[in-house]
Amino acid sequence: GSVFASLVQAPEDPILGVTVAYNKDPSPNKLNLGVGAYRTEEGKPLVLDVVRRAEQLLVNDQSRVKEYLPIVGLADFNKLSAKLIFGADSPAIQANRVATVQGLSGTGSLRVGAEFLARHYHQLTIYIPQPTWGNHPKVFTLAGLSVKTYRYYDPATRGLNFQGLLEDLGAAPSGAIVLLHACAHNPTGVDPTLEQWEQIRQLMRSKGLLPFFDSAYQGFASGSLDADAQPVRMFVADGGECLAAQSYAKNMGLYGERVGALSISDAGITASKEVIINIAGSSKEVDDFVCKTADVASKVESQLKLVIRPMYSNPPIHGASIVATILKDSKMYDEWTVELKAMADRIISMRKQLFDALSARGTPGDWSHIIKQIGMFTFTGLNGEQVAFMTKEYHIYMTSDGRISMAGLSSKTVPHLADAIHAAVT
Ligand code: PMP
Repeated sequence: GSVFASLVQAPEDPILGVTVAYNKDPSPNKLNLGVGAYRTEEGKPLVLDVVRRAEQLLVNDQSRVKEYLPIVGLADFNKLSAKLIFGADSPAIQANRVATVQGLSGTGSLRVGAEFLARHYHQLTIYIPQPTWGNHPKVFTLAGLSVKTYRYYDPATRGLNFQGLLEDLGAAPSGAIVLLHACAHNPTGVDPTLEQWEQIRQLMRSKGLLPFFDSAYQGFASGSLDADAQPVRMFVADGGECLAAQSYAKNMGLYGERVGALSISDAGITASKEVIINIAGSSKEVDDFVCKTADVASKVESQLKLVIRPMYSNPPIHGASIVATILKDSKMYDEWTVELKAMADRIISMRKQLFDALSARGTPGDWSHIIKQIGMFTFTGLNGEQVAFMTKEYHIYMTSDGRISMAGLSSKTVPHLADAIHAAVT
């Protein structure tokens, strides 16, 4: 007999398992709102025009070969990714205080960051929001961190439990790591305001809590890459340490290419050059000082390499080359922002259409959270029983927490979903 015969069957992944169930359903009206992947009005996956063009350029370039990338990935890609999230004029980047490595999309970048922290950071507890993306606790636990939660979502208001968040982070041990969704919080679609972010930043810095940003949706929340990166940039601008895991799955539609990055910004000099000259006495010493801070980033990078090498040796070349081609060319970059905004706008319009459809049906309850929430998902407030009912009777698939992907909806399918929600709550 097989040596593995005694294995128990593992359950499907709670998110990806939704698609498995959807694929098995023969109904012509079935609708998959489970996985967070963008679909067109016609319900089709979308490859951005600018991505197709970048790929064409890469294919036509006869000088390109298939050699291994370095352990840290494509150098151009790393530099441009750090700029994209931290801002082109970020003092941390200018002072060489940032170490960036290419990662296997957002998940792989989170994992590498977590493994690095587990080896080299003095506080091994990470606080994650309640609720959060289902993979977070597993990624961090398996990397060797101990996972605790902070209050985030208030079911009563279907908004942010800001007081609870401040209390929980305020009670966290000094130095603890805090996982923050940079924008478009998954699964709730609820983000702090900029004023609230500023309060979170002050609290975290005063307690020496370490921010670890998960940026899986830059550009998808508001349609603007800069606006969506604002919370991260507030933390980087104060000169303190900050980690950021980026994914190009959603905002460039590169899901299966597995392209992302991890940046670690080290706390370095925060004063202007003039102030430092005053302290140091001469500009020669200033140069030494800048050098010393760059030295930390280089040590961080060297340790990240030790994490990566035994895991997957080095990252794949294709997706990172697409991203670098687009980010490096101002015309292609602009085209990208237009296509990205169109995706974000379509999602926002789906929110409006679903809200209007429920209003038209007189569906009981307050559904304004559908238009207030932001990003790919609406946290409907439907319970597990209601979700099961909608799947059984209406062939609509979503995670059991009532999260629906707005990106999987279209004008054609909104009425079907509204009918199902109406039936589930009445
Ligand atoms: N973080 C969050 C919050 C996400 O929603 C996702 C994607 N669903 C990821 C990280 C990682 O996705 P990927 O590894 O495909 O980039």
